[in-house]
Amino acid sequence: MRKNIVAGNWKMNTNLEEGILLAKEINALVAKGINDPKTGVIIAPPFTHLHAINQVIDNDKICLASQNCATDEKGAFTGEVSVKILKSVGVKAVILGHSERRSYYGEVNETLLKKLNIVLENEMKPIFCCGEVLAEREASKHFKVVKEQIENVLFSLSAEVFKKVVIAYEPVWAIGTGKTASSEQAQEMHAFIRTLIAEKYGSEVALDITILYGGSCKASNAKELFSKPDVDGGLIGGASLVADEFMGIVNAF
Ligand code: PEP
Repeated sequence: MRKNIVAGNWKMNTNLEEGILLAKEINALVAKGINDPKTGVIIAPPFTHLHAINQVIDNDKICLASQNCATDEKGAFTGEVSVKILKSVGVKAVILGHSERRSYYGEVNETLLKKLNIVLENEMKPIFCCGEVLAEREASKHFKVVKEQIENVLFSLSAEVFKKVVIAYEPVWAIGTGKTASSEQAQEMHAFIRTLIAEKYGSEVALDITILYGGSCKASNAKELFSKPDVDGGLIGGASLVADEFMGIVNAF
């Protein structure tokens, strides 16, 4: 049975002191107990905070993730951070292909394929983001766009390896805009993604893959979104920066 997950993407927010405080607050709330103890809780702070935050969280209850990684394992790549370095500070999951990385830093399928493979080779969990921009939805191209993003990167994997991937559907028009996709829109796309997976790898694999929704998800709308059968949790931006709000989303399950 697939796992429900709520993952916080802190983006370029919090200084070290604020980040440690936020992690401690989340840790304390998780330690008190969450509604469904099987829900996976992930936090993705900035690179500079990872080592320190790893010291203050219960690693059995909170999974530490990074927001990105380098395409290569080591060497002359000034300013980059490799999965090996990330692993050495306790990182277990990596967000890949966030729309901000695609649009501001030119990450294309080829880049993402390299990152995906390196993350998996190092036994870390990729959280692969996909999603259409507003113009694509308005032109009814959203299914085509998401299909291509998934097929061109994830479908190069064998079924055995593909099973380790978490997918996050994040309609770009809903990210940081306060404009959440309706639960019907989220369900429609998640079901579509699951069908694509079933066609490629079979229904057993498709039923096992966690598909998160991302885009202005908050404590007040999480329950409705997560009530849909193919929505297995959320990738949360803004609302992950306030411990109570983030935990309100975790406890929506
Ligand atoms: C995100 O950036 O992954 C995201 C979903 O952001 P927000 O929740 O702020 O829309």
